[in-house]
Parts: sequence; C-alpha cells; structure tokens
Amino acid sequence: MTSSPEFDLIARHFTRATRHTTLGIGDDAALLDITPGMQLAVSADMLVAGTHFFPDADPRLLGWKSLAVNLSDMAAMGALPKWATLAIALPAADQAWLSAFSAGLFACANRYQVDLIGGDTTRGPLAISVQIMGEVAPGKALKRSGAKVGDDIWVSGTLGNAALALAALQQRYALSAEELESCISALHQPTPRVELGLLINMMAHSAIDISDGLLADLGHLLKASATGAEIHLGRLPISRLMHQRMTEPAVQQMVLAGGDDYELCFTAPARNHGEIAKLAGLLGFPVSCIGQVTATPGLTVRNLDQSIMQVSQHGYDHFNQAIPA
Ligand code: ADP
Ligand code: MG
Repeated sequence: MTSSPEFDLIARHFTRATRHTTLGIGDDAALLDITPGMQLAVSADMLVAGTHFFPDADPRLLGWKSLAVNLSDMAAMGALPKWATLAIALPAADQAWLSAFSAGLFACANRYQVDLIGGDTTRGPLAISVQIMGEVAPGKALKRSGAKVGDDIWVSGTLGNAALALAALQQRYALSAEELESCISALHQPTPRVELGLLINMMAHSAIDISDGLLADLGHLLKASATGAEIHLGRLPISRLMHQRMTEPAVQQMVLAGGDDYELCFTAPARNHGEIAKLAGLLGFPVSCIGQVTATPGLTVRNLDQSIMQVSQHGYDHFNQAIPA
C-alpha cells in the first residue's frame, strides 16, 4: 500500500467476500484453496481504451466485459473458473465510474462464482488487464490441438451480432434504433459459455473461443491440430436480424470474420452428435453443427448455393483495425 486513498479505493470498490480463497485482497499475495489433484488453468486478457472499447463506454458494462472475456477463455479450455486478478490504469479516481465498473465486474464474478483475489491500481491512460485462474482435471483440458479428421465442428450461440452492433455504432452499417437494441448486448455484455465448456469437456476433442472472428479462430484450431475443415455458410447460427440480410457480403463478413462473439467453437466425434445436439435445450441457446474436420489442410466455406467461397479477410486484425477513439 503506497497511499491511503489507494487503499480506500481498493477496499471500497474491489474487496468482496471470497469463496475459494484463504487470503484475498490486502496482503502482498493471495492464497488460493486449490482442489487437490486438479490442474490450474491460467489466462489473461487486456482491454485498452480506444482499441478495445470506446473511452466513454458505460463503466458497468465494461466491468462485466473485462471479466467475461477472460471467463470465455476458461470455457474454451473446459475449465471451472475460480479466481481473478485485476490490474487497472485509471486517468483519475472517479468514484462514480469505479462504483459502476465494480458493480458490473462483480455481477459477472457472482454469476460465475469467481473470487477477485488481488491486482494492481495505477494512474494512467484507461486500461484493464484481468487474469483468470480455474481448475481442470489433469488431461481433460480442451486444447486447440485435439481436433481429429471426421469430427463435427460446433458453434454455440449466434455469430456476428457484436460486429453488426459495432458497425452500426461506427456508422458503417445502417440499423434502426430497434435493430441496434436487439444486437448491442452481444457487443457490450457477452455471455461466457462456461457451463457449455464444462459439459463438453468429456465429449469434445478440441475447443477455442471466438474472439477474433470464426474464420480466424477456427483457423487457429485447425492449424494447431494439423487438419482442415469444410463449413457451410447456411448452417452458421445467426440472429433473425442477420438472417434477413445474409445475402449481403458485408453481413457475411460480420458473421465469418467479425470479432467479439465470445462463443465457443469446438470439435467432437460424430458418435457424440446426438448428445451434443441435446445441450441446446438444456442450456437455452443454440449449439449448432456447422461442418466437419477434414484431412485436406485449409478452410473451405460453402456458400448458400453450395459453391466454394473465396475467403479473403480471415478475422479482426488488431494491428490493422482499431475502434476509433
Ligand atoms: P503492493 O504494493 O504489495 O503491490 P498494492 O498496494 O498494490 O500492494 O495492493 C494492495 C492489495 O490490494 C494487494 O492485495 C493487491 O493484490 C490488491 N489490489 C490492488 N489493486 C487491486 C485491484 N484493482 N483489484 C483488486 N485487488 C487489487
Ligand atoms: Mg501493487
């Protein structure tokens, strides 16, 4: 602790009761109650103002999203998230902003039973870095490298709504206020598929979460598995709004290469098809089979008319595109 205002800020906004932790915020390090015999899964994700979100973004939604994008990585490993740290750079100690940010962060933490166990607070341009830790049984983590030829390829939820909302906010695509309302929560309040990750843990061969667009992220999985795939545009899970416009190349681009979906893409042997198809009813969101893993390297996309699509932009490239401040 360097100063008492910093201590007050951390105590007021970031210190809450814990569930899986012997010693939480306040000492030099936290002490975690790790379940004996389990492996620790660890990941970090950073959100920078002007790159990942608008600097005037609603702090409550930002708090939710900062944790949610990390939980999505746990989901993609088939791990049970338990602990998070938060390193945050703030231009000023704005109490109203901090209250709203922490309310959003803890709404997400409580929903998924995650303890905030430490972090760092510093003055600087607004940036948020969350590290997440979770547990998975040894040998049971869903890696990118496990896909097998003949596997079905599955995707959770719907794709492209976050990219559509972003395009509308940036006035690159016209939506009515009502239409924007129907897709904006995908951008601002993604739902990490933690329960799905835990349920497919025993049934899937490989998984990745879609944060940079389906083509890019499925591409990573295929590369890690040294396989290829054939997927069908007509089988991609999309919202009703997207469905109405799916013949437009711009919309197809959002569905295939838009960022920020935070859905899971996983592969599983055909013998588990029936059981996986039933998960949608259990979980209350679609779980859709979009194609198959192939021995031929590369990713083939079949158009709505079954012709082969020429795929150019594979995803959202952080070094070429940024959200304008
Ligand atoms: P140190 O100087 O030892 O790094 P700090 O004053 O930075 O200690 O932090 C004091 C305590 O508050 C530590 O337990 C640290 O993990 C926690 N902490 C600091 N910032 C945050 C934050 N933004 N969110 C959660 N915990 C925090
Ligand atoms: Mg510190």
